[in-house]
Amino acid sequence: MTVINDNSCGWLKGLQSRKNYKTLSNNLKCDYLIVGAGYTGLSAARKLSEINSTKKVIVVDAQLAGEGSSSRNSGYLVDTTLNDGFTSNKDINNYKKKVKIYKLGIRAVENFIKEYQVDCDWNECGKYFASSKIEDLFIAKRFSELLSSLNLDNKILNQQQLEKKLGTNFYKIAVLTKGGVLINPAKLVRAMVDVLPKNVELYENSPLIKWNKNNNFIDCQFEKNSIQTNKIIFCANGFLKSLNIKKNFNFPLTLTASMTRPLDDEEFKSIGEPKEWGVLPIRPMGATIRFTKDRRLLIRNTAEMKNPNSMSKYELDKRKLIHLKGLIKRFPTLKTNLIEDSWSGIVSRSRNSSQLFEMVDKNIYVAGCYNGSGIGVGTLFGEQIAIMASDQQSNEIEIINKRNKPNWLPPSPILNLGVQTRLFFERLRAKSEI
Ligand SMILES: Cc1cc2nc3c(=O)[nH]c(=O)nc-3n(C[C@H](O)[C@H](O)[C@H](O)COP(=O)(O)OP(=O)(O)OC[C@H]3O[C@@H](n4cnc5c(N)ncnc54)[C@H](O)[C@@H]3O)c2cc1C
Repeated sequence: MTVINDNSCGWLKGLQSRKNYKTLSNNLKCDYLIVGAGYTGLSAARKLSEINSTKKVIVVDAQLAGEGSSSRNSGYLVDTTLNDGFTSNKDINNYKKKVKIYKLGIRAVENFIKEYQVDCDWNECGKYFASSKIEDLFIAKRFSELLSSLNLDNKILNQQQLEKKLGTNFYKIAVLTKGGVLINPAKLVRAMVDVLPKNVELYENSPLIKWNKNNNFIDCQFEKNSIQTNKIIFCANGFLKSLNIKKNFNFPLTLTASMTRPLDDEEFKSIGEPKEWGVLPIRPMGATIRFTKDRRLLIRNTAEMKNPNSMSKYELDKRKLIHLKGLIKRFPTLKTNLIEDSWSGIVSRSRNSSQLFEMVDKNIYVAGCYNGSGIGVGTLFGEQIAIMASDQQSNEIEIINKRNKPNWLPPSPILNLGVQTRLFFERLRAKSEI
């Protein structure tokens, strides 16, 4: 597997590039091997080293640590999601369990940034679930009632109110949920890399190619070397399926995003000088749009079954055009030379939007499949899977284990056909919202 370290991500470009990283160049043995150094793997490593200070912990990543989706996402630390289904009582119970997990996820990130004094542009401004179609009012009302029944602070806003807040009259209706937080995702994960404890060894640009369980250890093959480990924790999220982990329960999706240059004074005035905000679509497959505190717009309006490592410049440029169209239809007063950076990232999805968190076999653990909401949950699941892999228990693990488990998925090509058909119809339904 080749994973490219590119410099196309707007969040990453704002950070200093990393030097002095190590690549695996010897055969090694360890007590714990963590595969993947995003929020999940880095949080697992931090917690493991805290619990087992005398054990040898190794983290490997196929690219530079933290520079996969953990740096490439839209930065919504979510308290609630809308498109999970909440119409039947059964679903409401499921939704309650999810919200509990999201809340624990926000708390895990909050604790991390307090403990290590991390600046990741934390803004508790909530988020808007918005639509340009007035007929979506009934979805907004039903969602608002659900949130209120769970004591989650929310408010329905109309077009005039939204125009004042967002600087566009595109949206006719929205539910503002107040518990969500906006962050700079790359700053958060970079801090997780920077504070890795001394007894954790990190090897980057070192993809795990093959692994095999023997009686007493797990044998892991890399390009030129190998690692023998007593326990292994898979934290590779969108790559879990390619590593043969729970392959009938998760699949990867590729998302692309673009970020603009900062708006100039004239443009900023033309949209009413709004404060930072974040919008998620009421209709699945609609655009996610953020306005950042340094006056940039971020848009993500594509999701597809595609290998992100094969996203050529030509293909990315095509998606960039879709992003530009999405921005211009919302903000017609802006100049068209807007987009500075475009990039793609990979997420893991399950059929019923549930996450993976378990011991898959003796000494083999997995945490992942966050269905596009992994900042908080990834941080939480990373810490908690480390506790589980240390044969300990916690209240959080009890809560996580009560969630609905991911449903079985058919193998390819049936899976690909099913997902592509669903994405096609969702895109059609959300045409106005892209
Ligand atoms: C465009 C976009 C927007 C998103 N928006 C949001 C959002 O607003 N809010 C939110 O909560 N979530 C969002 N997400 C999802 C979020 O980014 C993920 O859920 C989160 O990054 C998961 O963290 P992780 O550590 O589990 O996985 P990742 O960040 O994907 O890290 C996994 C790591 O595993 C490594 N790896 C893979 N295969 C191997 C191998 N064979 N050997 C070694 N290492 C390997 C990868 O290189 C990678 O660094 C978005 C994602 C994208 C792409």
